[in-house]
Amino acid sequence: MDQMLNQYGVPSDEGMTEARKTSHACVALPTCGLALAESERVFGQVMDEIDQILRELQLEKEPILIRMAGCPNGCSRPYNADISFVGRAPGKYAFFVGGSMTGDRLVGLEKKVVELKEIPAVVKTYLEEFVARRQDGEIFSEYWGRTHQPGPRPVPEQFHLELAERSARLAATSQNGGVE
Ligand code: SF4
Repeated sequence: MDQMLNQYGVPSDEGMTEARKTSHACVALPTCGLALAESERVFGQVMDEIDQILRELQLEKEPILIRMAGCPNGCSRPYNADISFVGRAPGKYAFFVGGSMTGDRLVGLEKKVVELKEIPAVVKTYLEEFVARRQDGEIFSEYWGRTHQPGPRPVPEQFHLELAERSARLAATSQNGGVE
């Protein structure tokens, strides 16, 4: 079976980082008509770059859950990952950190918008902090719970805030006779 998998280019988990083994993305474009941004099609490349950072920081054996979704529906369960990216618009993602490995803590919003190309550099800053501040034997999930207050919980308004603000401004303007 291994021989056949190799023959057809199916990757094996040999040599993969722990984070890579557990990482996942939803299908998003072109399969899912609800997608606001790419997910599965770009995730391999994103993880290649994150893998390189994990190896540089000697974190290749660390269980860190990294997930990406193409829209706020979150089919890849980004809201309880350690680190996750949720599509807001083409090439733009909301960035969340801090879900718990045991599933009893949701992520918090760290950045409302991160560009696709910025993702590896953004993740690197969080991993460097983990290396600098972790205690002996602590996994990312435990370290985050010990050292950080939970960020804003994922709610739909995080994805539609600008629209909500614009609607409120327009409503106020119309009440004011068209003067902003
Ligand atoms: S998270 Fe959104 S884009 Fe991804 S599969 Fe689910 S509905 Fe589609």
